[in-house]
Amino acid sequence: MSEAPVYRRVLLKLSGEGLMGDKDFGLCTETVNRIAEEVKTVHDMGVELCLVIGAGNIFRGMSAAASTIERTSADYMGMLATVMNALAMQSALEAKGVSTRVQSAIPMNTVCEPFIRRRAVRHLEKGRVVIFAAGTGNPFFTTDTAAALRAIEMSSDALLKGTQVDGVYSADPKKDASATRYERLSYQQVLAENLRVMDTSAIALARDNKLPILVFDLHTPGAFAQVVCGKGTFTTVE
Ligand code: UDP
Repeated sequence: MSEAPVYRRVLLKLSGEGLMGDKDFGLCTETVNRIAEEVKTVHDMGVELCLVIGAGNIFRGMSAAASTIERTSADYMGMLATVMNALAMQSALEAKGVSTRVQSAIPMNTVCEPFIRRRAVRHLEKGRVVIFAAGTGNPFFTTDTAAALRAIEMSSDALLKGTQVDGVYSADPKKDASATRYERLSYQQVLAENLRVMDTSAIALARDNKLPILVFDLHTPGAFAQVVCGKGTFTTVE
C-alpha cells in the first residue's frame, strides 16, 4: 500500500453479527479470518490498533431479558459472549503472526488479562493489537458505548465503526433506491435525527470528548486500510 495512514492510533468496533457471515448464529470461520486479514493489513502499516467486538451473533441481553432471565444477568451473559468473540479474533490474528492481548472489563484471569489502561497503552506501544472484551463491564450498556469509552481512554485518534454498508444513509439503501450517503454528520444531527450510527450514549460520549467516528463497510476488502488513510467511502461523524 503506497498510501500513508492519517491516524496513529484507532479503535475498530465491529458488531458480533459482523462475524456471522451467512450463518444465523455464532461464528463463521472464513469471515473471522477475512476480518483478521484486514486488521493485519492496517497493523502492518504501523497503526496502533484496539478492537471492541459485540456479541449480537451469540447473545443480546435485551432480547433474552424478555424471557425469564433477569435483565442484569442477561446483560452479563451478553458481556461474557463478547469474550468468546474476542478470543476467536485473537486466535485468528495470532495465526497470521499478529501479536495480541485480550483485556476484559470483567476480570477472568485464567482466560485473559483484566482491563488495565496503562498496560493496554504499553501493549499498543509494543505493536500488539489490544482486544477489549466484556464491554464496559456494566449491564444496561452496549459494546458501542464500550468502544467509545475505550477509544477515549486510549487517546485514540478515531473510532472506526465497521458495518455492512459503506457509511450512514438517509434511508436503508437496500430497501430504498433513493437513499443517499452522508459524507459528514455532526453528533447533534445523529442524535436529533436518531440516525442509526451507534447508540446515543456512545454518540454523546464521542461528542463530549471530540472523538471522530468513521462509519465504513468492513466487508469490502481493503476498505479498513483505505479509511485509515483517509481514502475510500465512509461517513464521518464529528
Ligand atoms: N453488554 C452490556 N454492557 C456492556 C456491553 C454489552 O450489558 O457494556 C451486553 C448487552 O446485553 C448487549 C450484549 O452484551 O446486548 C452484546 O453487546 P451488543 O449488543 O453491543 O453487541 P453488538 O450489537 O455490537 O453485536
